[in-house]
Amino acid sequence: MADSKLYEILGVSRSATDVEIKKAYRQLAKAFHPDKNPEAGDKFKEISFAYEVLSDRSKREIYDKYGMRGIKERMGDDGGSGFGPGDLFSHLFGGSGLSGMMGGGMGMGRVRKGEDTVHGLKVTLEDLYNGKLTKLQLCKKVVCKMCLGKGSKSGHQHTCHSCSGYGAKVTYRPLALGLTQQIQMKCNDCHGTGEIISEKDRCPGCKAQKVVNETKILEVHVDKGMKENQKIRFCGEGDQQPDVEAGDIIIVIQQKVHSKFQRSGNDLAISHNISLTEALCGFSFLLQHLDGRELLITHPPGQVVKPGATKGITGEGMPIYRNHFEKGNLYINFNITFPVSHFADQHKLKELEVLLPPRPEFVSPAAECVEEVTLEDYDPNDDRGRGERSEAYASDDEDHHHRGGMPCPNQ
Ligand SMILES: [Zn+2]
Ligand SMILES: [Zn+2]
Repeated sequence: MADSKLYEILGVSRSATDVEIKKAYRQLAKAFHPDKNPEAGDKFKEISFAYEVLSDRSKREIYDKYGMRGIKERMGDDGGSGFGPGDLFSHLFGGSGLSGMMGGGMGMGRVRKGEDTVHGLKVTLEDLYNGKLTKLQLCKKVVCKMCLGKGSKSGHQHTCHSCSGYGAKVTYRPLALGLTQQIQMKCNDCHGTGEIISEKDRCPGCKAQKVVNETKILEVHVDKGMKENQKIRFCGEGDQQPDVEAGDIIIVIQQKVHSKFQRSGNDLAISHNISLTEALCGFSFLLQHLDGRELLITHPPGQVVKPGATKGITGEGMPIYRNHFEKGNLYINFNITFPVSHFADQHKLKELEVLLPPRPEFVSPAAECVEEVTLEDYDPNDDRGRGERSEAYASDDEDHHHRGGMPCPNQ
């Protein structure tokens, strides 16, 4: 099925060069950009999608060979951005979407389908930001080519006599008083397959197993903006069995933890330490983004950054899946590193105090009504010295005068 829809969208021929495709895309994207032309949003998505496929050598190859169906199978099937293939297909091809295109195979007398195989694919946040083509080596069962799945050299198989081809036998076990119990057991003669291949006729390729193990390299397109647990389906690439339509291989994206960036949907967040000086007097720093760009982040003097403050940068988050010209936001959570004790002498501290806002006034009360106490460093992980006090708090009856750590007899 030669399908040229994506070429038509860009107005180029099937033999167009990469440069021609890029040029056509640029002109159209300009004309239909939603900023200029809000009603052309769908048209813009079509153009972006066509370009996404045709500008990528391997995707274009798949499209040329298998058409939209091939693209759908290889580009994941659970959308995520509200621009899943379902929407796209019904949009591009009207109404019934895929089913019209896929033609045969659907509808009449569906063949039994094998189980899907699920594999996790661990990817870095960089891969999800930039997109990546990953080759995944898998082992799968394929129908033996030597015997074409018959299991025998001659192509003959004989129905197992002892189970009449059922693969299982029913036996009756007598119980007391003339009752019997029905037991179903796997047939030992054919090992549950229901057929017998004579020793001499066994296929040497698969040893009459009908399938052999094969190593398969899958090319997985990790697209920009894909998310944790997003699935990429490879139709019919699962384990094969004779007379059964092979199931699918489903690749599940698993995002590795990143040392710097945390992802939340399409947004990214980092923690950043600044000094007290920077918090009060402004700062600049460089942040290396997931695509290697260095972002220069500047905060002007005069605006104080408080501990735990969060500030955001629009459009520096993750690319949005299937719409990666748009991005989420980047948030920065600020931690403030205070100077160490005795960083300045008494004299300098006096000078500093002049610059800082005035302290609240403290009026010393008459000496006889105050008890001066000592403020010590407190370590919440250190239990020493707290036992007695917590014991004292165990009693809420203030009238009991208990001495030391003695438990209150009434409690
Ligand atoms: Zn049998
Ligand atoms: Zn064989």
